[in-house]
Amino acid sequence: MAHLDAYNRPISYLRISVTDRCNLRCVYCMPPEGVPWRPHEEILRYEEIETVVRAAAELGISKVRLTGGEPLVRLGIVDLVRSLARIPGIDDLAMTTNGILLGRYAADLAAAGLRRVNISLDTLRPDRFRRITRLGRMEDVLVGMEAARQAGLEPIKINTVVIRGMNDDEVVDFARKTMETGWNVRFIELMPVGNGVLADGGWREKVVTAREIRQRIEAALGRLEPAKVSVGNGPARCYRLPGAQGTLGFITPISEHFCYRCNRLRLTADGQLRPCLLSDYEIDLRTPLRQGADVAQIKALLLRGIENKPLRHHLDERRRPEKRVMSEIGG
Ligand code: SAM
Ligand code: SF4
Repeated sequence: MAHLDAYNRPISYLRISVTDRCNLRCVYCMPPEGVPWRPHEEILRYEEIETVVRAAAELGISKVRLTGGEPLVRLGIVDLVRSLARIPGIDDLAMTTNGILLGRYAADLAAAGLRRVNISLDTLRPDRFRRITRLGRMEDVLVGMEAARQAGLEPIKINTVVIRGMNDDEVVDFARKTMETGWNVRFIELMPVGNGVLADGGWREKVVTAREIRQRIEAALGRLEPAKVSVGNGPARCYRLPGAQGTLGFITPISEHFCYRCNRLRLTADGQLRPCLLSDYEIDLRTPLRQGADVAQIKALLLRGIENKPLRHHLDERRRPEKRVMSEIGG
């Protein structure tokens, strides 16, 4: 049974950033030169991550998602997946990736016990993809997506951050994909985290709310119907176009915060437990881990994190997290 926090929310989900490094430099996440990577010794080792997940599982956490930075750039990631998949109580092990390296890894990840992937894709146009990610080739993501499908890492969800003036003219094209190809697309509102260029000054004008996206899609393609999603619905509200195989989801941290049903904890790449993405409150797990803390001791620290999980974020009062960029926390 999942533990309840101070506001009666069952905490059942742990997101782990396995590295702060990335092979892309998305404009909303990182500055063009990247962020100074943390030295290797500051990043949690795989055995340390495993200890945290064992402790989490004993507290009733059953869902784990690996993220980053880009999780697939960390060496030995398939071994980590294999060891976490074996932990009793973890019944949903997933990954969020930019997809660039999925073509190479999808089959091995599935064989190691990964259940499914979310793939980030903000545009369907190769030239624009290069402008948004600064380094990537869209073709590699499409190859990765197909490899994931063939490996059975499903349902695949596509994460699309919508930014005014950059890709908001493509929301209807993404919606069409749910009919033509069965994609499950989730539109994410832009958040002001860390020092991606869009996160500084003027981000509010760049946010396109779920309501606006929905209106544009409904004007072009017809009314959305509420959809039931079998696994991993998370904070998204899900809909379907009539007759479509795939779904459309909206993740609305800005226009309609979903903190009251938040079920997650986060672990940063350098071993800090972060009960809320958008609050800088953290508990250090790395130091105790390196001093030999066992599962029981880490469990006590996770419990402290659960008990002190903030009720909600405060972006609407202009209080935003300052300490870290998104790639260190994992989104
Ligand atoms: N590199 C992987 C990827 O891009 O999927 C995993 C890490 S990334 C930080 C996780 C998610 O956070 C991605 O879907 C990304 O689009 C999203 N993200 C990053 N910066 C964001 C921002 N400022 N606002 C909203 N979403 C953001
Ligand atoms: Fe890398 Fe993901 Fe951030 Fe893009 S959003 S720079 S892929 S960590």
